[in-house]
Amino acid sequence: MKHNFGAGPCILPKEVFQEASEAVIDFNNTGLSILEVSHRSKEFEQVVIEAEALVRELLNVPSDYSVLFLQGGASQQFAMVPMNILPEGGKAAYLDTGVWASKAAKEASKLGNVEIVASSSDKNYNYIPKDFAVPADATYFHYTSNNTIYGTEIFEKPAVNIPTVVDMSSDIFSRVINVEDYDLIYAGAQKNMGPAGATLVIVKNDILGKSGRTIPTIFDYQAHAKAGSMYNTPPVFSIYVSMLNLRWLKAKGGVEVIEQENIVKARTLYDEIERNPFFKGTAAEADRSRMNVTFVMDTAEQEAAFLELAKERGLIGIKGHRSVGGFRASIYNALTITSINALVDTMREFEDRNK
Ligand SMILES: *Cc1c(COP(=O)(O)O)cnc(C)c1O
Repeated sequence: MKHNFGAGPCILPKEVFQEASEAVIDFNNTGLSILEVSHRSKEFEQVVIEAEALVRELLNVPSDYSVLFLQGGASQQFAMVPMNILPEGGKAAYLDTGVWASKAAKEASKLGNVEIVASSSDKNYNYIPKDFAVPADATYFHYTSNNTIYGTEIFEKPAVNIPTVVDMSSDIFSRVINVEDYDLIYAGAQKNMGPAGATLVIVKNDILGKSGRTIPTIFDYQAHAKAGSMYNTPPVFSIYVSMLNLRWLKAKGGVEVIEQENIVKARTLYDEIERNPFFKGTAAEADRSRMNVTFVMDTAEQEAAFLELAKERGLIGIKGHRSVGGFRASIYNALTITSINALVDTMREFEDRNK
C-alpha cells in the first residue's frame, strides 16, 4: 500500500478515483466519456450546478457571493485579484508569509502600489507575523491562510477592517470558515478539492466592477459570474472530479467532521515529532499547519537514511520543499489516519534501529 503525502497534486479518496475512472469510459450512461462530452450538454451543466451547490452548502456561502470555477491556478489569481479590484494607482496591503504570498504581492505590484504590512522572511517563514497595521487607504488586504511550503497556517482572520482577500489553496474545505469574513477567497483545486486544472473563486459581488479598469474579458470575474463559469470551455474533468470529491466530503458529514479528523491527524504526527529525538519540527508551535507538517533531522545522512526507509514502507512525497529541506508530510482531507500511523511507525522504527 502506498501512502501519498505529496503537497499537490494530492491524494483524493479512492472512491472518487474509482467513479472518475468509470466516467472516463461512460459518463452517466450517456455512452460518452466525460472527456468528450460537450460542456454545453445538459449532463455537464448539471455537474457545474451541483459542484457550485456543494461549495455553497459545505462552506455556507452567502447568496451575495459568486462561486466560480476558473483556470490558470492560484497563480493566475495573483494577477486577477488586483486587475479586478485594485484601481489604477491604488494601494493594496499584503502579508508576506512565504513564497506564494510574496509571489501574489509581486504580481499586484505590477498593477498598483503594494505595501508589505509584515513579513516572516527573517526566519525563513517559520512563523506568522502577528502585530502589524494595515494602511487605512489600502483597497484590500491579502494573505495566504496556509503556507504549504513552510507548514504554517493562519486559522483566525487577522483583525483588519478593509476588504480581505485570502489564498486558501491548501486549506480550503479542511476546516470551518466564515465566508462572510472575506471578500474574496481563491484556491487552486489540486491541494484539497480535486485534480489540477480548476481554480475555485468565491467572491462578494459588491466588490466587483469598481476598479475603473478595462479588464480583458477572460480575466474579468463579472464575465465569468454572468456566464455561470461557462464563459469559455471550463476545465471539464477537474470540475467533475472536484464535484465527486465534494460529494464524498458531504457524505462524510461535511467540513465540521473532516476538521475534527484533521485535528487528530495533525496532533498524532506533531506528537511523534516532539517525542522522537531524531526529528524536529520547523514551524513555530503556535502557527503549525494542520495540512502540511514540516520537520528536519540533525544530519543530511540521517535524512537520506530515513527517506530510504520511508520509501521501503510505501510513504510517498515526504521530501521537504527545497527552501526548507528535511521533510514535509501533506496530510490533506483524503489522507487517512492509517497513513499517519504508517509514517509514525516508520519514525519509531528509525529510532529503534539507530539509538
Ligand atoms: C500551490 C499553491 C499555489 C500555486 O498554485 P497553482 O495552482 O500551481 O498556481 C498558490 N498558493 C498556495 C497557498 C499554494 O499552496
